Amino acid sequence: MKRVLYYLGLVLLLSGLLLVSCYEKRSTDKERENNWAEKRATMVHQLRVYGIEDERILKAMNSIQRHKFIPERYLGIAAPYGDHPCPIGHGQTISQPYIVAYMTEKLHIQPGGKILEIGTGSGYQAAVLAELGAAVYSIEIVPELADHARKALSAQGYEKVNVLTGNGYEGWPEYSPFDDIIVTCAPEHIPQALVNQLREGGRMILPLGVGVQRLVILRKISGRIEKVDDLPVRFVPMVRRP
Ligand code: SAH
Repeated sequence: MKRVLYYLGLVLLLSGLLLVSCYEKRSTDKERENNWAEKRATMVHQLRVYGIEDERILKAMNSIQRHKFIPERYLGIAAPYGDHPCPIGHGQTISQPYIVAYMTEKLHIQPGGKILEIGTGSGYQAAVLAELGAAVYSIEIVPELADHARKALSAQGYEKVNVLTGNGYEGWPEYSPFDDIIVTCAPEHIPQALVNQLREGGRMILPLGVGVQRLVILRKISGRIEKVDDLPVRFVPMVRRP
């Protein structure tokens, strides 16, 4: 009898400890989530101060869990909601939030639009485009990054983002023409295949140049290309092989 009571007591004690630790884990997870939400709100406030006006973009960036797109091992060394690029592995970075918002704003994305992105990276920019209601076709040349982005996007419920492991210089002809094209790595010259895959009236934004780079915005009007030079920027190069 004594032995039974002893074991019963032990079981009760262990279940109690288990309950307490589950509760503590739940509350620390919650605190961590709240903490990220606060940081996201600060990031969005800063985007407003910097001049981003499109409420749809601000709302999207307020809701997307940017930290979930950054591989866990980099979370400790770079603040995911700070206004700077963050490492994502393979020598690549996720662009700073202001540039993501700025480039997205310049494209005038419409719900139901079909957008091509070159340089999936973490998948974060693709998630912003998807939040705006676009169908996103995104190409990434580094297979490991493409896999990571696919997983992060589907874990966050972005089923309308298609990620292709491939060379962005070729575009994605099967799904062309695209309403808009966003390039998030810098080529030396404007890739002709991408111009060909842009629909009439569509816009393309890309960082152009080696070393010194500028954002360039193109618009296809009556088959002709109008080109406007914009901000100086710094992006990773658009490479020809991984
Ligand atoms: N848009 C990304 C950041 C992109 S970083 C995000 O939101 O996280 C630039 C990415 O372009 C890198 O992942 C790099 O591997 C990729 N890249 C470079 N050259 C490429 C090419 N030719 N085709 C497709 N992707 C390319």
